Amino acid sequence: MAETVRMTAEEVHGLIRRVLTANGFDAANTEAIAANMGGAECSGAASHGLFRLPGHVRAVAAGKASGQARPAVSRPAPGIVRVDGDRGFTPISHRAGLAPLAEAAREQGVAVLAIARTLHFAALWPEVETLAAGGLCAIAMTSSPPYVAQPGGTQRVFGTNPLAFGWPRQGHPPMVWDMATAAMARGEISLAKRDGHGVPEGTGIDADGRPTTDPAAILEGAQLPFGGVKGGLLALMVDLMAGPLIGELTSLEAGAEDPLPGLTEVSGEIVVAFDPARLGARFDGAEALFAAIAGQEGARLPGDRRTAARARIAAEGVAVPAALHAEISALAPGG
Ligand code: NDP
Repeated sequence: MAETVRMTAEEVHGLIRRVLTANGFDAANTEAIAANMGGAECSGAASHGLFRLPGHVRAVAAGKASGQARPAVSRPAPGIVRVDGDRGFTPISHRAGLAPLAEAAREQGVAVLAIARTLHFAALWPEVETLAAGGLCAIAMTSSPPYVAQPGGTQRVFGTNPLAFGWPRQGHPPMVWDMATAAMARGEISLAKRDGHGVPEGTGIDADGRPTTDPAAILEGAQLPFGGVKGGLLALMVDLMAGPLIGELTSLEAGAEDPLPGLTEVSGEIVVAFDPARLGARFDGAEALFAAIAGQEGARLPGDRRTAARARIAAEGVAVPAALHAEISALAPGG
């Protein structure tokens, strides 16, 4: 088994802060990213925790992203909050935009947050979880670098385009799900390549458009959406709503314009918040549905894994691969 370093939540957040500060991120951006990334690491979402820290540093060092972003908020309509992310990572735009979005949703019944010029290099659940914890129902979508083909086609057209949903509950954590529209996360395909094993059929196609289970060939070719054509249609919706709808680029355009491919790209995010009270919500109906799902052997509600991981990590700390810990520590020498 790979060697690990056990860290408390406080140590995780402290390490992220030290690395970002040592690499030119200002206090506001450091705090916003550390809360998001540290929260992911301490919720069992290692793929969007410390693992992403070197990429943040590289993106700023390469001039692709700003570690000193000052997002600008505008209100083009009562139900619309618009944030220009100033080429920063998205958590600082969330700090600027989520509170006015929640306020507008309570005033209007429904409101939209459109974030432009941002680098979404994180999981999507923190934004919908925050809104749902405040009593709102929420949907979030963002596009990402183009890696995914529409089934039947051979060329990459979509990002792995995640979408997330949050539903508020009384006496329980919000019900939250968050998923990429690609059949398999790109990171998992890379791990399969590294470890020398194949991936399931339907994960992707090679550079000539032929179905393959070879991860290296898929990384050269294109990934496929989950659920065939229908997953591709969801990816299409995400691309349009987080892109052209809010004046931002499609995944395809963002990839073509990116001078430094391989990290993430400046593009958009859209978050829609609904006030259940204004819509006459029936929470009892929702709870009965949740009970019917969770009451079945083998079925569970989404988010349960995160809730369990949080409790476990709060008690025991988190095991970080020693190689990653060493790589990150070297980014803040003497820190
Ligand atoms: P997963 O396939 O791991 O999980 C998707 C969702 O399904 C989760 O909400 C999960 O809840 C739920 N789930 C899994 N198994 C069950 C089950 N048996 N019953 C009920 N619900 C279940 O996630 P993905 O690999 O699709 O995505 C990983 C992350 O990557 C996401 O956070 C996404 O936002 C992020 N991402 C970010 C991108 C970006 O550009 N910023 C691009 C693409 C992805 P649970 O947590 O409880 O298991």
